[in-house]
Amino acid sequence: MAITYNKRTHRCGELRAANVGEDVILAGWVNSSRDHGGLTFVDLRDHTGLTQVRFNPDQNAEAHEVARGLHNEDVITVTGKVVSRGEWVNPRLDTGEIEVEVSGIDVLSRCDPLPFQVNDEFDAGEDQRLKYRFLDLRRNETQDIFRMRHTIAHAIREYFNSQNFIEIETPFLTKSTPEGARDYLVPSRVRPGAFYALPQSPQIFKQLFMIAGFDRYAQIVRCFRDEDLRADRQPEFTQLDMEMAFVQRDDVMEMVEGCVKRIFKDALGIDVPTPFPRMGEHEAMERFGIDRPDTRYGLELQDVTEIMREVDFKVFREPIEAGGVVKCIVAKGGDALTRKVTDGLADELRGIGAGGLPLTKVADGGEFATGVAKFLQPVCKKVCEQLGAEVGDTIFFMPGTFADVCKYLNHIRVRLATVLDLIPKDRWDLLWVVDFPLVVWDEEEQRYFSTHHPFTAPFDEHLGMLDTDPGKVKAKAYDLVLNGTEMAGGSIRIHQQEVQQKVFSMLGISPEEAKEKFEFLLDALRFGAPPHGGIAFGLDRWVMLLSGSESLRDVIAYPKTQRAVCPLTQAPGTVSKAQLDELYLALKPAGTK
Ligand code: ASP
Repeated sequence: MAITYNKRTHRCGELRAANVGEDVILAGWVNSSRDHGGLTFVDLRDHTGLTQVRFNPDQNAEAHEVARGLHNEDVITVTGKVVSRGEWVNPRLDTGEIEVEVSGIDVLSRCDPLPFQVNDEFDAGEDQRLKYRFLDLRRNETQDIFRMRHTIAHAIREYFNSQNFIEIETPFLTKSTPEGARDYLVPSRVRPGAFYALPQSPQIFKQLFMIAGFDRYAQIVRCFRDEDLRADRQPEFTQLDMEMAFVQRDDVMEMVEGCVKRIFKDALGIDVPTPFPRMGEHEAMERFGIDRPDTRYGLELQDVTEIMREVDFKVFREPIEAGGVVKCIVAKGGDALTRKVTDGLADELRGIGAGGLPLTKVADGGEFATGVAKFLQPVCKKVCEQLGAEVGDTIFFMPGTFADVCKYLNHIRVRLATVLDLIPKDRWDLLWVVDFPLVVWDEEEQRYFSTHHPFTAPFDEHLGMLDTDPGKVKAKAYDLVLNGTEMAGGSIRIHQQEVQQKVFSMLGISPEEAKEKFEFLLDALRFGAPPHGGIAFGLDRWVMLLSGSESLRDVIAYPKTQRAVCPLTQAPGTVSKAQLDELYLALKPAGTK
């Protein structure tokens, strides 16, 4: 194997007909090789593409012999001349008009039998891919994702730089930053018994930047949240985090729209129109059952509570009498809605807590048929009129509390959109959701929780209700939704110490706890805090949606599994007793508390 080698003159995707006659040196990985009538052909690959290189035993018997012994993913350099492929042009390759007639080869590194193929013959499960992530990352498809990730990050940096934002780093070893998740903790060696928390976001630090007078800050930053991992979460993830001083909601939203426009342009070459539509949180819940609706398709929720008061149907009457609602979704005809499909949907709903799935169809003649038809026949005409339901349509009803009805009908809506194939491809629906409640009441814990985080400012005109009716107070918050996925969230912040203290106490944070956790913020608010606000967007999620990837794991170079394990390094790992001693830590047996 060669140790010294010649410097390459070109990348593997660069040579064209215009280079015919040139002496070149290429370097890369063996993508594939084959023998043809005494000649050996190798497709040599790097991240720019493939070049076919040809070994002719009559010209260099030794090199030809070496080529015959190559395996996929061996690393080689070849010296040779660019020749035209004549009638053997391969129109599928950018370099398809030429090939390189090899005069010399150096093998730089050998590849053992592969756990999976890196070329087009790739077929590996996720476990293997993540264990051998360096091989998975070598594949064109994966490389494209990370190149798009770079393009997006670069677009963000350039955009904010052009708007006079500055990037400042914030600490990783810090105190708890409340975003509502569990903290990752790091024990302190020099202060036995004390722990740092890894930041769930740079929230407080960026607010302090505004108080410090930086005016505009933006950072692409890693955040850590120790949540039980659902399919679309990672314990460490990357945010674009920004903050601006002397601004109102509209200023921040407008700034973000400019950034999103730039991202779409640079990553996909698409011009997205601005400003993005806005919708109140309540309207979103009423119409779609969720505060991050996918507006690419209809199937909106409709309220039939009033009509249903007239029918003698216990399943509807009882929830209505208890103060609940009956809402429904009308699905246009569609042979796709077979009994099997609707039974499957009913099972799914029971799985997430619904009592069942009352449905009916509008049959020929405009009568209801099947399902709960017999209970609803007396109001059939009224229902169809109000809903605009026609012969062949299926109506899915849901009775219950407003919150439950929203949850279940949202589930139905999303499933129906797939079953009925209603989601247009290549459409990007951006939507601002605004006017969130400042806090939500948690029945189980009998206390209020912040809808966003405790630093979010209430509407000025609602300040009086903080003491009397906190549940009615609206927040100066905004979420950006793309095709039904929350892509960014932020708010105008509280910049008056008294208001911040009031919000803390409403959230059940005692003055002592507030002092212990946020004294530096409360202090800072006393020393000349300008009005300010900002937002953060999940960079991983942007890359996932724009690259058409299915999971966040695909767009993070070294991701964790759903059990928060890194399959490549096997982190987290155990540590020695000596390390624990140094930290004054002792372990309890697993499974004990
Ligand atoms: N810190 C918030 C988050 O990480 C975003 C913000 O309010 O700017 O979700």
